[in-house]
Amino acid sequence: MKYCQGPNCHKYKTKDRIRGTKGAKFYQTRRRSNFPYLGGNACSMNCQSDWFEKFGDRAVDHFGRIHEPIKLTEENAWMKHERYYGDGSPFYWYNRLTEQERPMTKEQYNNTSLVRP
Ligand SMILES: [Zn+2]
Repeated sequence: MKYCQGPNCHKYKTKDRIRGTKGAKFYQTRRRSNFPYLGGNACSMNCQSDWFEKFGDRAVDHFGRIHEPIKLTEENAWMKHERYYGDGSPFYWYNRLTEQERPMTKEQYNNTSLVRP
């Protein structure tokens, strides 16, 4: 079990957040085994937005802010695809830039260290 990471989760007044006895009631952060937002860490889109508003900028700096454009070139534009129709090998390379296709074997498809033909 873990707590929602939304910094304002306890401020959203819903019945499932109420705790305490009569005269001493309070709202608290939601606790679940998993959550649908913020990569499994926030209970709602509101909590996800609250988290990002408070920590997003610092998180981007921490994990590496992009200062130069990342470029899609012919060299790094290859991706693996699987076709679900037709005859022959269903696996092929597809170049997102040139739209070229090249056949590939199932072994090549499953080899995760292979990233271009
Ligand atoms: Zn929450």
